Order: sequence, then C-alpha cells, then structure tokens
Amino acid sequence: MISVIVPLYNEEEVIEESYRRLTAVMQSLNEDYELILINDGSRDRTASLAAALCEKDRHVRLICFSRNFGHQIAITAGMDYAAGDAVVIIDADLQDPPELIPKMVEKWREGYHVVYGKRTRRQGETIFKKVTAKLFYRFLKRMTQVDIPTDTGDFRLIDRKVCDAMKKLGERNRYVRGLVSWVGFKQYALEYVRDERFAGETKYPLKKMLKLAMDGISSFSYKPLKLATLVGFVLSGLSFLYLLIVLIQKLCGFAMVRGWASILAVQLFFNGVMLIMLGIIGSYIGRIYEEAKGRPLYIVQEEIGFEDR
Ligand code: UDP
Ligand code: MG
Repeated sequence: MISVIVPLYNEEEVIEESYRRLTAVMQSLNEDYELILINDGSRDRTASLAAALCEKDRHVRLICFSRNFGHQIAITAGMDYAAGDAVVIIDADLQDPPELIPKMVEKWREGYHVVYGKRTRRQGETIFKKVTAKLFYRFLKRMTQVDIPTDTGDFRLIDRKVCDAMKKLGERNRYVRGLVSWVGFKQYALEYVRDERFAGETKYPLKKMLKLAMDGISSFSYKPLKLATLVGFVLSGLSFLYLLIVLIQKLCGFAMVRGWASILAVQLFFNGVMLIMLGIIGSYIGRIYEEAKGRPLYIVQEEIGFEDR
C-alpha cells in the first residue's frame, strides 16, 4: 500500500481539485493506497469538505489538529499515521504535480528509499520568494555537514524504513526535508517544474518562511554560535591595533582631547555586535528550552477513517 500525506491549511479552494487529481493518479497505479489529509487548524470550510471526502471514499482519512501547528508538524503527523510501504508527501495546492507520483513509485520499485522532487524552475511565485529560496538553500548547504539537497521541498516519496527512522526523531522545531537527508538511505533526485498554485494564496507568509529557515539552520548547524568567537577574535585584534596607535600618539606627545565621535562610534558598534551575538545564543537556548519541555508535537482533535484498518 502507498500512503499519500496532504497537509491542509485554509485550502477550501483547492481541496476538491487536489483530491480529484490525486485519486486519478493513484487509481492508475495498480496498488492499494490511502490519502491522509491533515487539517492543520483551518479556519475556513476545509474541515467539512475533507470530512465529506472521507464519507464518500474509503481511501480518504482525515486528521484534524486542535489548532494550527504548522506545515512541518502536519507532515510529521501524517508520517505517524501512515501505514503504507511507501509514503508520499505532497502539498495540497497542486504546485507539486501529482502526476509525478507514478515516476517516484517506479524509482522506489527500482530500490531507492527516498525519491525527492528537485525544482528546476518555479512558476507563479514572486521574484522575492524565488530569490530568497535559492539563496537560503545554498546558504544552508554551506552551513551544515549534512548533505541537504538544494531547491528541494517536502514533495517526495519515502520508503517504510525511512518513515520509521523519521518517527524516532522527536525534535520540536522540525525541518523535515533536512531530517530525511540526515536519516540517509538511497536517495534519488527527480527533477520537475514547480507549477503555480491552483487557487488561493500562499500559506507561508514571510514570518513562517523565516521560522522555517531558522529551524533549518539551527537544527543542522551550530556555526552561528561559533561566529561569536570568530567576531570576538577579529574585533579584539583590531582593538589591540588601535590601542597601539593611541599609545604611540600619547608617547609622541600629540594632543589627546579630541575623539568624542570615534569613541561613540566604536561603542555603538561593539554594543550592536554584542546584542546580535546574544540574540543568536538566545535563539539556540530557546530551542533547548522547547525541547526540554517535552510537550507533544501536536494535538489531534479528531480522526476519521482510521477505524477500518
Ligand atoms: N500548510 C499547513 N500549515 C501551515 C501552512 C501551510 O499545513 O501552517 C500547508 C498548505 O495547506 C499547503 C502546504 O502546507 O498544502 C504548503 O503551503 P503553501 O503552498 O502555502 O506554501 P508555498 O508553496 O507557498 O511555499
Ligand atoms: Mg504552495
């Protein structure tokens, strides 16, 4: 059996079309399948539309979160519930074409454990999103030892073994695409063109994008922490040089009263650097704090369609 995980947050405009195209594709494979819809605390009609789909199709199952927990957590819940020998993760908005799934399954049958979609081009997204995404993926690659592929989202097929391995990773601030790389196994990159959203707007405003980026970096690298040491050394070195200059000036008998502006500038600069470093350290401590609390990753309000398993 193949499980397909579809996270949904306010997707009333796309859910039905998405269901239609996914079903057409899955029917064409001669293998049993389940569609696991995760309603991530939507405020629109997504929940009732999804429940109606469960009602009429025995392949559809639904998990409703008690509130919005975020895309990455929704995918994680899907993996927890999935029973398939292979698990496909796909966005609800049809930006990742469902018609690619048969190709993924083919590669999986050839023996690959992870088949991920690599975007060669993105359509219908803002220049800002394209540029920031491109820069971010490359930046992340330089920051970490884990080989996280560039231009790759969560659209992928993973084998049961990978899914089980992922379930053992309990961390809260999840960057799922990185965790899949961390887990390892035989991976295959399937290139595709990312389509426009079928309808509606992106559910990833700048704030969520920044959080995802921070999670990606802090989960897989502690280089930002080392930055403090590096900047500290460089600035101390420069300060020492400046001190020498001042001493020499003094010894040579130059008048020393001027310099109010330079003192102020140096002060402000150092304070700024200090606060930035404190902020970086703070964001890591915040993450440690969240892990230490050990709360569950998500709260399920309702499950539909899992009884007959
Ligand atoms: N999503 C979610 N919870 C959120 C935000 C998004 O489950 O808090 C889902 C959303 O419904 C969609 C997928 O995650 O199926 C990707 O979101 P979106 O297409 O808005 O992101 P983009 O493609 O613009 O990066
Ligand atoms: Mg999208």
